[in-house]
Amino acid sequence: MTAVSDVSPEPIVYLNGELVPLSEARVPVLDRGFIFGDGIYEVAPLYAHAGGRSAFRLAQHLARLARSVGKIGIANPFDDAGWRDLIDRVVAANQTHGGLRADQDALAYIQVTRGVAKRGHAFPAGIQPTVFVMVTPLHLPDAAQGVHCVSAEDRRWLNCDIKSVSLLGNVLMAQYAAENDAFETIQFRDGVLTEGSSSNVWMVKGGVLYAPPRSHKILEGIRYGLIEELTAECGIRFEAREITEAELRAADEIIVSSATKEVLPVTRLDGQPVGAGKPGAVFAALYAAYQRAKAKQAQEAQTAQQAQQGVENESRERLTV
Ligand code: PMP
Repeated sequence: MTAVSDVSPEPIVYLNGELVPLSEARVPVLDRGFIFGDGIYEVAPLYAHAGGRSAFRLAQHLARLARSVGKIGIANPFDDAGWRDLIDRVVAANQTHGGLRADQDALAYIQVTRGVAKRGHAFPAGIQPTVFVMVTPLHLPDAAQGVHCVSAEDRRWLNCDIKSVSLLGNVLMAQYAAENDAFETIQFRDGVLTEGSSSNVWMVKGGVLYAPPRSHKILEGIRYGLIEELTAECGIRFEAREITEAELRAADEIIVSSATKEVLPVTRLDGQPVGAGKPGAVFAALYAAYQRAKAKQAQEAQTAQQAQQGVENESRERLTV
């Protein structure tokens, strides 16, 4: 068995005010995240590029984090600037001591639980949330290869819009995919498409991109709004509406999206080819547009860094004259 501490050098993580090696990060067993799954999380990509690293759509990830804590009655432990600063600190610690290379894409994992208290279901008064931040290398899958998916009935609770750490329903669906040599399980609730175990699902029919509407039945991925924007840029018609199981099975293309997958074409569903059984034209256009969006954000981050550097150099020069 591989212990977390066997990973060398060990990642450095943030837990409740301290930066520590992963194997030394400890939470008490009465943490409500452990006892009740009473907490939320967020996962944001941090792409490496010439001259640095920049978070992709971090403002949207932090807004979703704020919504998630708000929906379960936890006071957000940090404002956006505080979260950004914290992520920067964890990245810097891992580039110095934790084995993260400057040229490696990474993922920021943030978890907030209600905190530690004597066991009892209702919210205890006056406890501090537990805050955990981890940054690990991101290895994107090969988008040129289509993935195979299976399908199942969505039996999760009806607050799927909260990015809760209570992920048992999603875990069971991911395991179902793994046992069937599939990449992902696509779920239907009462004959209508919801989402994957850890991704949003998109359907292409007649050149139109369809997605299940934003609702409590799905987690609104940060790629949801992004893909909507990219369709406009690419001149692809987009429509959010209910998609039946029969429609999905007759799709020209199916696409899954998430922070760790970006966009991926589904070429087989339950053993049957999707459309022509190979990545389609709408996928290709969205994939290219996604890469352009990453490049644009990296360029903007670099320009901002250079401007900041310029201001710092100028004030240093002023101090030395
Ligand atoms: N739905 C579920 C259930 C997920 O776990 C994820 C991944 N976080 C998504 C959708 C996609 O969200 P995002 O694009 O923000 O990664």
